[in-house]
Amino acid sequence: MQNELENLYQEIILDHNRRPRNDGELDPCTCQAAGFNPLCGDKLTVYIRNLGEILEAIRCDCQGCAISTASGSIMTAMVAGKPISEVEKILADALELLTGKDEPVVDLSAHGDLAALVGVRKFPARIKCATLAWHALAAALRGDGEASTE
Ligand code: ZN
Repeated sequence: MQNELENLYQEIILDHNRRPRNDGELDPCTCQAAGFNPLCGDKLTVYIRNLGEILEAIRCDCQGCAISTASGSIMTAMVAGKPISEVEKILADALELLTGKDEPVVDLSAHGDLAALVGVRKFPARIKCATLAWHALAAALRGDGEASTE
């Protein structure tokens, strides 16, 4: 059962990596923020376009490993079209899941494809691959051009 679940999670990550959702640049955009993960070499830029209080469109242009690409794809799919207040909550919850002190209880029905990324908690060197897109989203929401990964 554990193996089946891990295979499923792996399949989700591979699928997002093969066909990243909301891939590339967004023009015009309200704000963009770049992120770089020196541990792995992942580079990405998150573009957002706000329409009032709604995150109308988002794209993530990622040159990185499978985990960073999949994370960017999953992130954009989770927040596109949502009110900014909800986006901020999704962002905080995602970072807590990926980096929070307590081992989270995850399942696909509650967390969607994000559940597939929580396995990186077992590989500390890869956690920044998974959080990079989320930090870049936070920077874009703040209006900063550069993501902080600390
Ligand atoms: Zn990486």
